[in-house]
Amino acid sequence: MEENKNNDVTIRAAIIGSGPAGFYAADHLLKQKDFNCKVDVFDRLPTPHGLVRSGVAPDHQKIKSVTRVYDKIASHPSFRFFGHVEFGKHITLEDLKRHYHVIIFATGAQTDRKLNIPGEDLTGSHTATEFVAWYNGHPDYRDLEFDLSQKSVAIIGVGNVAVDVARILCRTIEELRETDIADYALSALEKSKVRDVHMLGRRGPMQAAFTNPEVRELGKLLDAQVVTLPEEIELDEFTLDSLETNKDQTAINKLEILKSYAEHDTGEKTRRLHIRFLVSPVEIIGDENGRVKAIRLVRNELYKSEDGSIRSRPTDKYEEIDVGLVFRSVGYRGVALPGVPFHERWGVINNEKGRVLDPETREHVQGLYAAGWIKRGPTGVIGTNKQDSAETVKCIAEDVKNGNINTPSEHDSETIEKLIKKIQPDYVTYDDWLKLNKLEMEKGEAEGRPRVKYTTVSEMLKALKAKEDNTVDG
Ligand code: NAP
Repeated sequence: MEENKNNDVTIRAAIIGSGPAGFYAADHLLKQKDFNCKVDVFDRLPTPHGLVRSGVAPDHQKIKSVTRVYDKIASHPSFRFFGHVEFGKHITLEDLKRHYHVIIFATGAQTDRKLNIPGEDLTGSHTATEFVAWYNGHPDYRDLEFDLSQKSVAIIGVGNVAVDVARILCRTIEELRETDIADYALSALEKSKVRDVHMLGRRGPMQAAFTNPEVRELGKLLDAQVVTLPEEIELDEFTLDSLETNKDQTAINKLEILKSYAEHDTGEKTRRLHIRFLVSPVEIIGDENGRVKAIRLVRNELYKSEDGSIRSRPTDKYEEIDVGLVFRSVGYRGVALPGVPFHERWGVINNEKGRVLDPETREHVQGLYAAGWIKRGPTGVIGTNKQDSAETVKCIAEDVKNGNINTPSEHDSETIEKLIKKIQPDYVTYDDWLKLNKLEMEKGEAEGRPRVKYTTVSEMLKALKAKEDNTVDG
């Protein structure tokens, strides 16, 4: 630890991942009263903000305005951003330990949970997260192809991600044009032939993971009618029982919204969004070319498990729906990072309140911490990460106080910058990002859209270079 001129303690922190959890952790660290902190945030992409840029739906611009808060955090003199620098590729855990007192992993949940049913890997069966990253212009996903010439599509799962996917498939091109959806996705969706979207929930309406504002918004789609089946929104005895006890107004409101969809199909709209309950996919069926042609579902019934939760189990009734495209939206999953203890079954870094634990000894691995989805799993909204990161930083503060942090061999913040310049000369600073951001907004303004995104790393770097050259030239 360094002593500054006020005799205060100064520590250096590296945060891997620049999504909400990473930014809130940085903010909490920079606001500590008992020690000063210099924070370096790393991201493998040149662009910061994680899922706010590549996950939040393009038609939810208001939610994206949270980036103004992140810009403010980044403007702190002790904050640096090293974009386009990948942990495990450009910098290793050993590099970080040589330079930082604390290292926080805030890498989110980068992959999906599997369904483990036959046909899951057929052509035309995708994860929702691939589709989400694609329409949001994530450079790693921009070249994926989705066969939108299909008339009928299934989305497995009834969480908010499933709702996002359904909305994007059901919106008119005029509605989409008002968003910052990737250019290529806009062109592909303009030609879309999708007319029927089947969103499939394995439990009942009251157990659906989507939230009320999201499911209410579906009723406002310009040219898509939401349809529910009266018999599937009829409540079972266990749910009625629990409602009687809990008087959960949010759940009651959710049911009212879903009931209204059962009553109001005027037949005037071009597309239909069928929200189904009490069905589980048992097989995705392919044609002779290995392309999705249908999905086989089993009808479920609900029961109360020993822990009191209401779960589903299959009956002996089956049905098949003809669909040419399937999106599996059954939750995200964290990916292990080189050298960092990982809980395979839960898909999170082994940790307690954010302190990374050795799986054998259950002891804290000194200097290592986690925040966000890679710490607690893929639950909650953007704001949830604020408290989550606060909990992690509280542990850090205790450890700083007790001298229980890593002791780096390097003694200043310049040496890591020198190392990065050598290994990844194309790294991107926050000022660079602000320039890219401005260029994207200007391109958007010219088209009457919130922004037009750069979707390849090379065009981002080229745009920055051009900007730099212009500045040098005069
Ligand atoms: P989620 O909320 O956990 O929903 C996952 C869905 O998949 C649930 O309906 C779940 O059903 C279902 N499921 C899981 N395993 C299944 C299986 N084997 N077969 C059939 N269905 C299965 O996950 P998410 O939608 O990916 O969202 C992740 C987080 O991001 C959530 O906290 C969400 O609220 C948040 N988010 C928020 C917004 C927003 O605020 N607008 C937008 C997007 C995402 P069970 O409930 O029966 O397990």
